[in-house]
Amino acid sequence: GPLGQGRSIMQARVAPLGSSHVLLLVEDHTQARRVEEVRRDFVANVSHELKTPVGGIGLLAEAILDAKDDPEAVERFAGRMQVESHRLAQLVKEIVDLSRLQVADTLHEPRLVDVTAAVHEAIDYSRVGADAKQIEIAEACAPDLKVFGDEDLLVTAVRNLIGNAIAYSDNGSRVAVGGRLNDDMVEITVTDQGQGIPESEQARIFERFYRVDGARSRATGGTGLGLAIVKHICSNHGGDVTVWSEEGRGSTFTIRLPAAADRSGGGVPPESSE
Ligand code: ADP
Repeated sequence: GPLGQGRSIMQARVAPLGSSHVLLLVEDHTQARRVEEVRRDFVANVSHELKTPVGGIGLLAEAILDAKDDPEAVERFAGRMQVESHRLAQLVKEIVDLSRLQVADTLHEPRLVDVTAAVHEAIDYSRVGADAKQIEIAEACAPDLKVFGDEDLLVTAVRNLIGNAIAYSDNGSRVAVGGRLNDDMVEITVTDQGQGIPESEQARIFERFYRVDGARSRATGGTGLGLAIVKHICSNHGGDVTVWSEEGRGSTFTIRLPAAADRSGGGVPPESSE
């Protein structure tokens, strides 16, 4: 009867579920603990990093109140307050971006992304900053590079690398951005002729809030989150980011992402004139 049938279905389900259920719970638990640890460290870092700009804005407000009768001083302090609050806004934005990336280790809805177009967009975005330092951005990106992923995130990743290349280089130098297919990986490289990164620091620069030279890097206006964001974007795409650098000579950052399979069939593309 219906009751008997129901029972046997239940048992059939319970038996296989029984063993896998235990395994799943164990895994969930470690994963949950790891996520919790990451979250706790992150909150500690974040509150520490927020104290500096928030404290600075408070002090500037006090200075303005004290300097009421000196319009020039008021204007100067107000200008600095504006700079500080912009930085605070940028920091908050990057904290939100990074915490989203950390929570989900994968991408929400991966789509076919034109990496070549993403690289061009990142370069266009960086133009103003480069012009301000008379830095030339040389671009050499192969056409039609494709990966599965999130276009906005990939633009952000390349933009962060170009932004750093500009920030840590002298006026009038050159930044080269390349893109190519290497085996089954799409490789994007950003090369500068800037100050470089000591070998002992190269592994650490991808940690959130880590800066090689705290004071000098802070003066460039950075948040210390740029490379941590790049790293998470790459790993969420199943790829990675690496650095080669020599102090005083410059740096090359390389993003490697699995290329989207060429559905036109490897050999001669059927509907292509190339
Ligand atoms: P920031 O906001 O300080 O630039 P990032 O996470 O983007 O933070 O970079 C971390 C640190 O790595 C920087 O503070 C800087 O010391 C170093 N760095 C990153 N990119 C470069 C580069 N292209 N050349 C030299 N140093 C770099």
